[in-house]
Amino acid sequence: MEDSSELSVNLGQMLNWPQPLTDETRARLKGILVSRLDKMAGLDDDPSAVIPAGVHRSTSPPRPPHAARLAKLYLEPTNQCNLRCRTCVRNVWQEPMGMMPDAVFDRVIEGLRVFSPPPTVFFGGFGEPLFHPGIIAMVRRAKEIGARTELITNGTLLTPEVSSELLAAGLDLLWVSLDGSTPESYSDIRLGAELPLVIENIGRFAEIRSGRGEADKSSPDAGYDAGLGIEFVAMRRNISDLPEVLVLAHRLGADHFMMTHLLPYTQDMIGQVIYSRGLRDNGYPQPILPAFAKGDPAGTALTAALSDMEVTIAGNNRQTPLNHCPFIESESGAIRWDGGLSPCPPLLHSHVSYPVERERLSRAWTIGKVTDHDLTDLWHRPEHIAFRRRILTFDFPPCTVCGGCHMSESNEEDCLGNPFPTCGNCWWAEGAVRCP
Ligand code: SF4
Ligand code: SF4
Ligand code: SF4
Repeated sequence: MEDSSELSVNLGQMLNWPQPLTDETRARLKGILVSRLDKMAGLDDDPSAVIPAGVHRSTSPPRPPHAARLAKLYLEPTNQCNLRCRTCVRNVWQEPMGMMPDAVFDRVIEGLRVFSPPPTVFFGGFGEPLFHPGIIAMVRRAKEIGARTELITNGTLLTPEVSSELLAAGLDLLWVSLDGSTPESYSDIRLGAELPLVIENIGRFAEIRSGRGEADKSSPDAGYDAGLGIEFVAMRRNISDLPEVLVLAHRLGADHFMMTHLLPYTQDMIGQVIYSRGLRDNGYPQPILPAFAKGDPAGTALTAALSDMEVTIAGNNRQTPLNHCPFIESESGAIRWDGGLSPCPPLLHSHVSYPVERERLSRAWTIGKVTDHDLTDLWHRPEHIAFRRRILTFDFPPCTVCGGCHMSESNEEDCLGNPFPTCGNCWWAEGAVRCP
């Protein structure tokens, strides 16, 4: 079982810890956020040290990312789902829908055997992984080739039987999306889902993980060595729930907590973001929180939540990792349900979004399909490696802060002459939007 002192936090990049945490704060949050923070380099020694939020620090120095290395593969079992969340890109795109066929998954596994060590396989994408009828076998087969396995779910299909099977198959980390702390606020976002059921499902997963689950006849007494993470998508309509969701996550036995901002995929969600464009003193863009009117419940709740966590919002530009692609820097790639390989999850599907209130069409970029080519051949294609090298230097214009031009309406080209796909308007690279 994961050591409860090894909790980790991954908040959006504008949430930074400026000073050591007090005993009182530690006690109040009972460890869910903070017990690992004081172990992180320099925090206790240097009161001004700041943890780059969104980055899990380890004790060993990070190695520089390599454009040709594959450390983590986001694998999309399906882009279908049993819910219709307000926030979901699937509400508005025109992409074909489907389930990953066995033949495609076979090719993925075959391809991954060549990589040494095998990359982490993260089951997720734009759909609900547990909606795929073969998901348990997929996890088991990824595990059999020695890969670390992770999976994100909306939690509605996480029955005790499924939890038991996932753990027995060797799942290393389960993430569950939880965007509200009351049945009303949760269902207001996750249309078609009910919070009590999801909470019960997470609780049963935690029980089975610890070896206390009745549904798990095969569970070893000592339980399973698997992690549990909760992801929260912060919006104006649910930010007042954040403190309670943190407490709930702790109560449910979560080891990880991630908060991400919303990327609006529809015009009616633009008003829900709690960041906006801003100018830092070095001229680079930085997301900032909007001013809240006096008495605005969202502002009051956010202030309370963040003061509990002793975080500051923006305002600190010493370490903020702008213009760093979290996927390429973590040596990740992504494979769509039909076997198409892309450099990152956002490029798996063509979609429209409203990153700075203007519509932007992001066209998918598929290097090729694993059904037509070996995964290693696709991965090492010169155009793919050249793109990844370009991302690591991030020589893209600051579209998120610029006044805008017609080129920012898509990822086809930019004013520096970069070819498709351009990344100057990517809120993942800006640190506002995060995936586990
Ligand atoms: S659970 Fe995920 S994939 Fe399903 S509708 Fe909601 S956001 Fe979309
Ligand atoms: S910057 Fe954004 S679009 Fe570009 S590779 Fe990274 S995640 Fe994908
Ligand atoms: S491509 Fe257009 S929006 Fe982006 S920085 Fe250049 S001029 Fe500005």
